[in-house]
Amino acid sequence: MSRIAYVNGRYLPRQAATVHIEDRGYQFSDGVYEVCEVRGGRLVDERLHLARLARSLGELRIAMPMTTAALGAVLRETVRRNRVRDGIVYLQITRGVARRDHAFPPAATVPGMVVTARNLDFAGNEKTAADGIAVITVPDNRWERVDIKSVSLLPNVLAKQAAREQGAKEAWFVDRTGHVTEGASTNAWIVTRDGQLVTHPADHGILRGITRTVLQDVIEAQGLDFAERAFTVEEAYNAREAFVTSASLIVMPVVRIDGRPVGNGAPGLIASALRRDFHRHAEFS
Ligand code: PLP
Repeated sequence: MSRIAYVNGRYLPRQAATVHIEDRGYQFSDGVYEVCEVRGGRLVDERLHLARLARSLGELRIAMPMTTAALGAVLRETVRRNRVRDGIVYLQITRGVARRDHAFPPAATVPGMVVTARNLDFAGNEKTAADGIAVITVPDNRWERVDIKSVSLLPNVLAKQAAREQGAKEAWFVDRTGHVTEGASTNAWIVTRDGQLVTHPADHGILRGITRTVLQDVIEAQGLDFAERAFTVEEAYNAREAFVTSASLIVMPVVRIDGRPVGNGAPGLIASALRRDFHRHAEFS
């Protein structure tokens, strides 16, 4: 089946889906994005994703190209046209097309918008979750506003490639004080020896993951102990469990950090239970 992309007002076959060479997303990575999980053909936590999108755009002073309701309709239509059942929908908005000049273009410049959607290997992801993944740690060399979901992802690209070259699936960024901030495309969590779930506070140093947010409801419902605080690499090495969260991985157990087994080296009971329960607390639309 040929894939369809939404590009600036039109649904186009993928080969014909192109953007202008002077789109500021291409020239300056001057844009933001969102990734929403699709499950059973429905969007997961669309409302929260679109609220975060509006915030990212606001922080960068890029105009919302259409109302939230219209954005939702485009997401759903792209999912429908690509017959996505279990996968992701990707949305990118840039500051639009203008003659190359670093400062903002004229106020009338129309934001650029692209939406794509695809199925993921559902069974493959479940198998990965049953095995757990390996992560490595790398210095956090990103800018200070990674709370904005900007398409400027070069440090994340390099970190993920380093992980791949070392046989790992994710890289955890470590700040100058030795604390883990988050993954290259996930939020990072540990379960301490006394059973406390810990993840970095959602300040400007991490992206406030939607999965991370919704997971806090799951944690509360399961009556688990939770602390939003920074944890060190050393604490992670000594944790009982570790896992990552994102819209595409949901809750993914981590079984090795920098080559050292976490706990007994198998996916943790808490991470597995949170993964199982997650969608009971998610919003479908
Ligand atoms: N942190 C970073 C750097 C990310 O890129 C992502 C997702 O892409 C996340 C965290 C997880 O966010 P979410 O749960 O909204 O997918």
